[in-house]
Amino acid sequence: MRTEPVRTGVATPPPRSADIAPVRSRPAAGTVWTAALVAVLAGPAVLWLLRSGPQPLWRQLSVVTGLLALSAMVVAATLPSRVRALSRALGLETLLVLHRQLGVLAGSLVAAHLAMVVAADPTRVALLDPLVAPGRGIAATGASIALVVLLVLALRRTRHRGSHEVWRWLHLCLGAVVLGASALHVLWLGHVVDDAVLGPVLAGLGVLLIAVLLSRWLMRGLLDHRSEFRVREVRAESPSVSTLVLTRRGRHTGGTWFRPGQFAWLRLDRHALEEHPFTIASSAQESGRAEFTVRHTGDFAATLRDLRTGTPVWVDGPYGAFTSDGVPGTGLVLIAGGVGITPMMSMLRTAADRGDKRPFRLVVHARDRGDLLFRAELAQLRTRLDLRVTEVLRRPVIGWDGATGPIDTGLLAATLTDLDNPHRRVDYFVCGNPRLVDDALGTLATLGVPEDRVHTEQFHHV
Ligand SMILES: Cc1cc2nc3c(=O)[nH]c(=O)nc-3n(C[C@H](O)[C@H](O)[C@H](O)COP(=O)(O)OP(=O)(O)OC[C@H]3O[C@@H](n4cnc5c(N)ncnc54)[C@H](O)[C@@H]3O)c2cc1C
Repeated sequence: MRTEPVRTGVATPPPRSADIAPVRSRPAAGTVWTAALVAVLAGPAVLWLLRSGPQPLWRQLSVVTGLLALSAMVVAATLPSRVRALSRALGLETLLVLHRQLGVLAGSLVAAHLAMVVAADPTRVALLDPLVAPGRGIAATGASIALVVLLVLALRRTRHRGSHEVWRWLHLCLGAVVLGASALHVLWLGHVVDDAVLGPVLAGLGVLLIAVLLSRWLMRGLLDHRSEFRVREVRAESPSVSTLVLTRRGRHTGGTWFRPGQFAWLRLDRHALEEHPFTIASSAQESGRAEFTVRHTGDFAATLRDLRTGTPVWVDGPYGAFTSDGVPGTGLVLIAGGVGITPMMSMLRTAADRGDKRPFRLVVHARDRGDLLFRAELAQLRTRLDLRVTEVLRRPVIGWDGATGPIDTGLLAATLTDLDNPHRRVDYFVCGNPRLVDDALGTLATLGVPEDRVHTEQFHHV
């Protein structure tokens, strides 16, 4: 592909909009949210230690582990509950990693809590017998069993395929049982909720969690009328990939409503429980409109291809921190595998519409030639942007004289040669399957690119 001379320039700031908050420094927002989550996690246990006075060691430890387990469950439930500011600050991948880690931590703390309760008073082992145990014991046993089943299913999920929807609903139902039964256990236990300071703090946490869950499951899903879009067009990009063009129904406020690279959840019915995440691939400068480029992997994605013009689609978004808005780089290197090019297309289309003068380098990694998407449009974008595209096929193919093989140091070093101080002043965006992301991360680390300049998104989440 053609190589254009490097132009240097100053990043064009994204325009202000009525729909989205102004761009704030992501590290600062991330630090504030991390501090808030740590406060929720440790706050109740620290308060208990400050207020409980001298107590036998095992009893003290049993309450502390119990409170830490409860807080870990509250934070774990909040993280994937689509709090937009949180998703924008930390990103989907980080939220899901923390969600998993906190789930495992909660499980370990519950086991420690049970051990401490019995160590403090061995007769309490009777609390495990549902025939003689009081309500608080039955609630604790129910919560513990549900948590163990939930963790086993979640940890096995990475190895076992199967319906994502069935797994997701089982996960949600078990999570609801764990939270509900744990809340009853603490309420019926009495002593921590009776404390003049800890009681209101725990009640506040409970109200906060209920508000987050109501907003996630009722307000946003069922009452937010701004989420209704209509199909304007379905475009075939290749035999296995289509683009769904949507326009927002009714009046909209105008201006940008998402940041380039962010994603949204699509539903085919206002009340449908099934919803799937897809990146908004269009320019963020186009108001009231969104394009989603979708590979027909399974039932849902294939259904999108067959939608007729005018069909309603519900769009819950935008979410995610994988965006070129607000990054400090004076240039951007975008590394995409297959349909992972969708966020890069949004970044490039938006940059072209904004007259962005920064250098953009796009590396596209594909299975075969047919998997190389948007080639004509990228050629056109090169006339509007300082853009160079490097196409790489996974394996050598007869008649292909471009690059082949994995993303490695030789390939990336060649891509970076004309960039000004690529290790310090450039931001790197990587999106694709886990293997491509791992290859790219390893290569960028070898080239000495600092971790905080590398942003990743994977489409495969469990
Ligand atoms: C942030 C993000 C952005 C994405 N953007 C795009 C995009 O621009 N274009 C594109 O083609 N694909 C994208 N995907 C992937 C897309 O969400 C899945 O391919 C789609 O949900 C598959 O559903 P299915 O029923 O068609 O296939 P299935 O065969 O049912 O599922 C295939 C795999 O997709 C994942 N998946 C299925 N359902 C869900 C769900 N409800 N939530 C999360 N993951 C699920 C699971 O890993 C599953 O194993 C994105 C995924 C994420 C997380």
